[in-house]
Order: sequence, then C-alpha cells, then structure tokens
Amino acid sequence: MNVADSQRLASTLERLGYIESPIIEEADVIVLNTCMVRQSAEDKALGRLSSLKPLKQKNPELILGLMGCMVGFKDQSEIRKRFPYVDVFAPPSDPKPIIDYLIEEEFIGTKPAYTSENEATVWEPGSITLPASQQNNAVSAFVPVVYGCSHACAYCIIPYKRGVERSRDPQEILDHVHSLAGQGVKEITLLGQIVDRYGLDMPDYPTLGGLLEQVHEVPGIERIRFLTSHPNWMTDELLKTVSRLPKVMNHIEVPAQAGNDQVLAAMRRGYTDEAYRRLIDRIRTLIPGVSIGTDIIVGFPGETAEQFEDTVKQLTDLRLDVVHLARYSPRTGTLSERTMPDDVSDEEKWRRFRVIETLQEGIAADLHAPLLGKTCQVLFEEKKKSRWLGRTEHMDLVYVDSDQDLTGKILPVKINWTGPWTMIGELEN
Ligand code: SF4
Repeated sequence: MNVADSQRLASTLERLGYIESPIIEEADVIVLNTCMVRQSAEDKALGRLSSLKPLKQKNPELILGLMGCMVGFKDQSEIRKRFPYVDVFAPPSDPKPIIDYLIEEEFIGTKPAYTSENEATVWEPGSITLPASQQNNAVSAFVPVVYGCSHACAYCIIPYKRGVERSRDPQEILDHVHSLAGQGVKEITLLGQIVDRYGLDMPDYPTLGGLLEQVHEVPGIERIRFLTSHPNWMTDELLKTVSRLPKVMNHIEVPAQAGNDQVLAAMRRGYTDEAYRRLIDRIRTLIPGVSIGTDIIVGFPGETAEQFEDTVKQLTDLRLDVVHLARYSPRTGTLSERTMPDDVSDEEKWRRFRVIETLQEGIAADLHAPLLGKTCQVLFEEKKKSRWLGRTEHMDLVYVDSDQDLTGKILPVKINWTGPWTMIGELEN
C-alpha cells in the first residue's frame, strides 16, 4: 500500500513539473513514507528520518515531508513536536497536504499546471501514472481498492493509522488501471487490508468478484492479482470468479496468523483453526491447481509452546505454498499492547520462527520439485545480476539466461532446477 501511495505522490509531483533527484543531497523536497506494522519497520523509518535531519540543518530551504502510518489520521500535534525539523505531515494514502504545502510555500509557483480551478484534474485517477523512473520498465503496479480497515485484530496498528474501511469508487479504479495499462503495465495487484470486503461498505459498488470482471476487460492488462484477504470474507462467488477469469492468477493470499483456537481468539481474528482448514479445502476445490499464501505471527502474548505446535501442525497438514512469517512485536495503543504482556522471550520467538522457516523450506521444495522439466508461463520483471527474473502465475520466482530484453514479456520457460525459494529455467522456442 505504501508503494502505491508513494507512486501516486511522485507522479503527481512530476505532473506539476518536478523531476526525480537521483542524489538525495540535491533534492529540494524529500518525503519519507513510513510503515509501523512492526517494530523493525518503525525503527527503520525513525533511523531514516534522523539521517535526514543533518540535510535540513545544512540546507534550511529543503522541504522535508513525513507521510504514512507514523503520521496517522488523528491529532498531529505530538508528531509535530517530536520532529520539529519536518515541514509537512500527511496521513497514509493522502498525499494532498504535501502538495498543498508546496503551493502555499510557493514552491510550485512556477508550475501553472496546478491551480484551484484544475485541482480536480491533478488528482484525477485516470491521470495517475507511474513515476518517470519506473515508466520504461513498468511491469507490475499496485492499485489500492480498499483504504483503511474496520476489523480490530488485537495486535494490529493499521486501523488506528489508516482509518476505517473505505472502498474506492469502481470507476476511479478502472480509470487508474486504464492509465497504468497505457504506460505498458502488464500486471495489476488490487490492494486492500481486507481486499475481499471490497464494496461491502458501499451498497452501489460491485463485490470484489464484480470488480475483477471489470478489470479483466482492460486491454493490455494480462495478469490480475489481489491481496490481502481475510478468511471470513472469502466467498464462493469470488473463488469461482478467480477460477473462471483467465487473467486472474490462481494465487490466493489468506492469512491464518495462528493455528491454535485460544491464540486466534486472543488475536480477535474471528475464526478457528478448523474454519481456516475448511476454507483452504474450499479454495482448493473451487480453484484447481491454486497456490495459497498465509501469514503467521509467532510469539503472540500468552502463546505457549504447545499452542505454537498447533500452528506447526496446521502448516504441516495444509502444505501451503508460501508462509510470510513475523515475530510478534507490540504496537503502541493496540489491544494486545495495552492488555497483554509481551511474555514470550525474544529467544523463544526466534526459535519458533526458525521451526516454521525450516518446515516451510521443506514443503516449498517438495511443492516445486514436480515442476522440474515442466513448462511455466513466466512474466519477466527485471534483470538481476546477469539473469532475468520473472514470476509464474503462482508467484514462484524463476531465473533464466537471455541476451534479449525480456522486460514485461510473458514467455514459456522450461524448468531445469527447482529449490524452495526459486527456480531456474530456459526460454522455450
Ligand atoms: S484485518 Fe486485522 S491484521 Fe488486517 S489490517 Fe485489519 S486489523 Fe490489521
């Protein structure tokens, strides 16, 4: 979501005449977009912010902006006090305060493109482009469809920082997708904290399935993905739509977070291990050959070693394709931070992390092994070191050697080597 927000701000600034500075010390405006989903992300943002302070001291004319979760939606007085050297603050998914500030400071004084009369044009979704530096090699792009979240998982800071759930106008989404397709983007990922709730807050909007049907018709878009889903909102209608529409990739990201019912209840996730297992069965029945990704948090407050074993059992039984793993870290203001002691030691969190990592390494290697000698359709994204890197429909990473420019091409690749995290192949003629 932050990548999409940053792209929107960058492309808006470009339309107003700004150009990207490859050297940060030479920039007139620097905006730091921040994430607070875990302590490590927050630490990184804080480190980066303090590294910008000397630049501001050296050049008081420099405009420093702070955006995203660190700013949040609510009262900004505290953050303004904490970072007095920052000039302007903007909440997540709303870069407008930054543009307004630059106008007020007459920083856009020479840029007649932006006036109060044409303000609507500047923010028009159909004119949202990728920043210039990404336009020549744009293959994939993110398109937010649901902002915020109205669920209240005990550990999660997002509802506090990104506000209540708001589905985005479907026409605005389509205009955005058309605009990206016009720039050569081949793959679109529709984003929401609970993306499968798309449209449920707006009676006139389509469901996510309906939206996928519409995005499917946009010429130039060859692959469509969506994330992240919540298990409770995954309908048969959505799954059947994924199965029926050829451009919608057969890959579902649906986080379990834990495999023990007490832990799930303490997390306020709203389902049980059994319900999650039934959902995985349903997905596999309705979308044959589907790949599935999950998120797991280890070391949630009160999680005993035995309860953790239920998560291990769930993953062992379900053999999912991808596991995004996190160690619990308390986020200030959340229910778990306020009411549940962070009582699993760091050492134990790491142990649990490694247990699942090792388990999943074996599962992923087993799942990839049958692909040896088979042909996969790969969308190539970029050259990494000397090899071209692309993804299969199932999000598997594939490397090939080629002298041609493969950027943005979907080509058949014969797989010659498989490992748990990547595969190597050769282009088929
Ligand atoms: S569903 Fe839960 S984990 Fe996901 S964004 Fe909403 S509150 Fe956070």
